[in-house]
Amino acid sequence: MTIRTRFAPSPTGYIHLGNVRTALYTYLVARARQGNFILRIEDTDQARFVEGAEEMILETLNWLGLNWDEGPTLNNPKEESGNFGPYHQTDRRDIYIKWAKKMISEGLAYADPYTPEEVQVFRDKARAEKRAFLYRDHRPENPPEWQLGMPLRFKVPEIKRYSWKDAVMGELSAGPEALDDFILIKADGLPTYNFAHIIDDFEMQVTHVIRGSEYIASTPKYLSLYEALKITPPILAHVPHIMAPSGNKKLGKRDGAKSVTEYRSEGILPEAMLNFLAQLGWNDGTEQEIFSKAELIEKFSLDRVQKSGARFDEQRLIWLNGQWIRSLSLDDLYSRCQSFWGEEAKNADESYKKRVLELAQDRLKTLQDLPKLTSYFFVEPEIDTELIDGNKQLRKLTDDERRELLSIARQEFEKITDWTPETIQNCLNELLETTGQKPGILFSLVRIVTTWAPFSPQLNDTLALIGKEKTLQRIDNYLQK
Ligand code: GLU
Repeated sequence: MTIRTRFAPSPTGYIHLGNVRTALYTYLVARARQGNFILRIEDTDQARFVEGAEEMILETLNWLGLNWDEGPTLNNPKEESGNFGPYHQTDRRDIYIKWAKKMISEGLAYADPYTPEEVQVFRDKARAEKRAFLYRDHRPENPPEWQLGMPLRFKVPEIKRYSWKDAVMGELSAGPEALDDFILIKADGLPTYNFAHIIDDFEMQVTHVIRGSEYIASTPKYLSLYEALKITPPILAHVPHIMAPSGNKKLGKRDGAKSVTEYRSEGILPEAMLNFLAQLGWNDGTEQEIFSKAELIEKFSLDRVQKSGARFDEQRLIWLNGQWIRSLSLDDLYSRCQSFWGEEAKNADESYKKRVLELAQDRLKTLQDLPKLTSYFFVEPEIDTELIDGNKQLRKLTDDERRELLSIARQEFEKITDWTPETIQNCLNELLETTGQKPGILFSLVRIVTTWAPFSPQLNDTLALIGKEKTLQRIDNYLQK
């Protein structure tokens, strides 16, 4: 059997982390067994449609390397590839209508004759009698003949308990109260998600439905529809929510989580994002923390996805990003940094920029840190004495003591004839001895007055690249202040 999975986003806004994680798991399940990964656009909710959202979804998946085998094409979403299309639900109307008519003829669906006011009366009555309101308690005896413009409801043929196995959540069950006559086709002629996804998954020969756990509660309804249509349900896998850092609620916009697009523009690498998302709710049972996409394809399995929600931890994403940045070759990193250099570096020589980048590579946590970490290699930094006064160690020294130390350092630097990381390091080590200071004081002081940055690469490497003349000049600038 060929595995066929699908990611089925709705173009209703920005694509949040939970969606992308679902896409990743869905992709991995397909790739692990040479299956097909389908992208289907669920655009039947016209009221929530957002212009440009689909393009953003395609762009994001592409950036992450989650390439789909069937669906809209990246550069022109109106064009599609694959033998099971169309892949936009609004282009599949005829298919849903065909199924709807078949259901009517089999007595499995009826036109909903009630006005909203009438439904409200039923609801109020149910509430007064302290029972749940169910449409199936109000099936019309003689429903009107259905025509486009009227909502069409499913007539659940058998009211019973359902038990099923979820590939992540395990054995689940729900009583008959979970079943109801839900809408198949809305008054606007478009199908509901509840109906459309079942038809599409069947027609597209989807083998695994992987989606958020918010769909568990509706699963009995879907099972009753599968049964009525004599369709064997695909494997169902509901993945847990991503939780807010506090751990007690679902991650929302207010919890500091950004959209994938924002993380991208802040210089998070796609590799780090994938690594991070994969582990939000999954582990391979070992201590391994860094996983490439290829390793994830090899190791991921739904049965190791946790049942309970994983907590979102942005610091971990940033840490992983730093790890991934370090693992890149200099050329690769350089090409990804193009848009992140500061204004001051724009016209600098490429080979010089590469040398700067090589030094910064170990310290970079996001590509966005690049200007902050490197601008002093390109332009004269502005003196910011806050950096000294705010430093716990340096605060203890008087102004005279600082000047004294810097004068000695300057003197010794001046004597170096061959200005290399090694000779500078030797000189720095000797200075520790002659001054009797700790590196935390001496090196920090030299580092600050030569860079005026909150942090920098290794001091000797930094000074070597800044050059002897500029190093001395910057120390002088401070001493003359
Ligand atoms: N369009 C649905 C959503 O975005 C898809 C759910 C599913 O994967 O079936 O939540």
